[in-house]
Amino acid sequence: MAINKEAAEVYESLGVRPAITASGATTMYGGSKLRPEIYDVMNKASSVMVNIDELNIEAGKAIANMIGAEAAMITSGSGGGLILQAAACIAGSDPAKMAKLPDTTGMKNEIIIHKSHRFAYDQLYRAAGAQLVDIGDALRVHPWMLENAINENTAAVAYLHCNFVSRRALPLETVIEIAHSHNVPVIVDAASTLPPRSNLTKHIEQGADLVQFSGGKGVRGPQGTGILLGKKELVEAAYANASPHQFIGRGMKVAKEEIVGLVEALRIFLSEDENEQMRKYQKMCEKVLDAFVEVPGLKVDIRHDEFDYLVPTVVITFTKEWTGLNRDQVLQSMEDENPRIFLWQLGNPDEVGIEPLNLDEEELDVVISKLREKLIN
Ligand SMILES: *Cc1c(COP(=O)(O)O)cnc(C)c1O
Repeated sequence: MAINKEAAEVYESLGVRPAITASGATTMYGGSKLRPEIYDVMNKASSVMVNIDELNIEAGKAIANMIGAEAAMITSGSGGGLILQAAACIAGSDPAKMAKLPDTTGMKNEIIIHKSHRFAYDQLYRAAGAQLVDIGDALRVHPWMLENAINENTAAVAYLHCNFVSRRALPLETVIEIAHSHNVPVIVDAASTLPPRSNLTKHIEQGADLVQFSGGKGVRGPQGTGILLGKKELVEAAYANASPHQFIGRGMKVAKEEIVGLVEALRIFLSEDENEQMRKYQKMCEKVLDAFVEVPGLKVDIRHDEFDYLVPTVVITFTKEWTGLNRDQVLQSMEDENPRIFLWQLGNPDEVGIEPLNLDEEELDVVISKLREKLIN
């Protein structure tokens, strides 16, 4: 089904132009499409009241059971979860400390992080009062650097697992081994690494203490949700700091409808056949490849790996021989369409792509035909 007319009107009535998202689960472009199977449970949940503590705790247990984690909780996106990771490691469950954040006077407040893992979202660790302590540089890092950075003020070591991150960081196992030998917890941001589903347990199996995933990306649960899982004591501390409790996480509320919606979305996500899903995405990519492979000056290939392209993605490279619209002009003219079309643009400055996560077959056809208009005339 292409964009539904009535659905489009919800946005159009506000003067907002609907979009087709070929960029993957990009928050700026709407995240991902909510699974239609969960509308019903969210709708039902909206008409009954419950104790939110009870709901959060039971939903956390249900998620931990599904994943095979010691404990879990639902956060307000991964963004909210990163603030709670830091709060849990800095203030624990001590209300006197929790009430002070982001003032960390008298608390351990240093979070060690690879310089190559610094990115916009590390501000969320700082929002809880953490001082980031960098190790290594863009090119290399040695285990002794981590050893040397750990001291009596160290609250945690943060680790980023995402696509396009440098692979020159210390392996997570090494970080865990060193941090744990000093009784320092390791907190992981793996927000956007689902699918593959195996990533859900990868880091806790290696011994990570807290791991964060988004609920509104590949899982296709409510866009504002996230999953924080890991060791029981730290998850409990994160939850102590979270809404509805009146501490630093109070501004990061998750609604009861979103909580039940995420539990259901995760249940469905885990029951799906991943190989079949990947074959479907691969076929969609092949359709794009066929449409552009013979265009002179363009190089078109399908990428799928465990690092940067977690789902099959077709990448179009504008080579030196290309004489048509440049990449930015192509991106802009696709966005100017009605509906707008957002292409994948995480790669190099001479690449655009199509990532099928948010596309159905009809939308894919629209993307292909509009892109052909821009690239072939
Ligand atoms: C998307 C993302 C976030 C933020 O996640 P939200 O669920 O949108 O809050 C944090 N870290 C990484 C690596 C991400 O990819």
